[in-house]
Amino acid sequence: MDDNRYSSNRPRRKVSRRTYRNRRLAALAIIGFLVLLFVILIANACKDKSAGKTSSKGKDTTTITTTTTVTDPAVTTTAPTTTTVTEPVNESDFRLDKQTVSIMVGEKDMPRVLEYPDGTLEADERWSTSDPSIAVVDAYGHITGVSPGVCLVTLKSAADPKQEVQIKVTVRGSASDNDSTTSPQSSRAEAPAPSVDDTEGLTYVNGVLLVNKEYGVPATYSPPLNSLCYEQFSLLTSAAAKEGLKIYICTGFRSYKDQEKIYEESVKTYGETMADTCTASPGHSEHQTGLCVDCNTADSSFGYTAEAAWLEQHAHEFGFIIRYPLGKESITGRQYEPWHIRYVGSKIASRIHNSGVCLEEYLGVA
Ligand code: ZN
Repeated sequence: MDDNRYSSNRPRRKVSRRTYRNRRLAALAIIGFLVLLFVILIANACKDKSAGKTSSKGKDTTTITTTTTVTDPAVTTTAPTTTTVTEPVNESDFRLDKQTVSIMVGEKDMPRVLEYPDGTLEADERWSTSDPSIAVVDAYGHITGVSPGVCLVTLKSAADPKQEVQIKVTVRGSASDNDSTTSPQSSRAEAPAPSVDDTEGLTYVNGVLLVNKEYGVPATYSPPLNSLCYEQFSLLTSAAAKEGLKIYICTGFRSYKDQEKIYEESVKTYGETMADTCTASPGHSEHQTGLCVDCNTADSSFGYTAEAAWLEQHAHEFGFIIRYPLGKESITGRQYEPWHIRYVGSKIASRIHNSGVCLEEYLGVA
């Protein structure tokens, strides 16, 4: 046999045919593999292309993997699920203080609207959620976490539906929550602790800027009278004028320096204890926020005018509250000031007006 291998041509040709066949098979296998590789590459390229198409719309997508624990009386299994959530976009003229919200199940948060598109007012806000099983949102923009996951909350303008901004909401399971079947209703029924947020020295409670004896503004904070506050005040004065009443600005915005002077004068005249009930110390006057107005004459005689009575009844319709109401002196720390109105937006103003609480009580910090 060994001899055949080297001495004769026939056996060699036989071997060579077999080798040839083997080589053909190997070549076919390689071609097959290359074709498969090519198909995979094409498929991937198509996938990238379609992802690219999405980004060209300004919506970059991220894939978020969440782990859902399914509780069964018999067995507890952990099933990973993959959800694709689009990054929040804002191609509108809405300006929010934040476009991402991260809360625990049962917790609340509210993005603040810093600027509205032209022609859009607070009353035109329309809030919606992409997945109410993860987070719900009410008509005022309060977002409540329902179950762990990620979804998008959208704010649209009813006046101009093209104006739309999204908020990415991440809800985490609370540490004490080992019952994932808690219904959203029961989570919302509990009054959550107010969300107190310090932004550059300004205190926002549930999204409302709060200035009182406890919370102040930095000495450098010096905004003009807020434009929305001014617009709404103009509507208020026009409505009052139709009833023959004259309401005008006595004091709007006041700087830290102005407040300093007023407070010093007040202390000189009345002494510190008395001055503290009628004059805010520098940094603690709401007038430094540009969100309030003293109407007509800032003294107790104003309380007896028809204008004061009209403000008491109608200010909330324009988004204002009587900031220091009668009977709430021990909470606000200030005497009754029927002339001092604060802009909080018509929804909050109406709730405060209808319930008879003061701002501190409404915000849960009384
Ligand atoms: Zn005032």
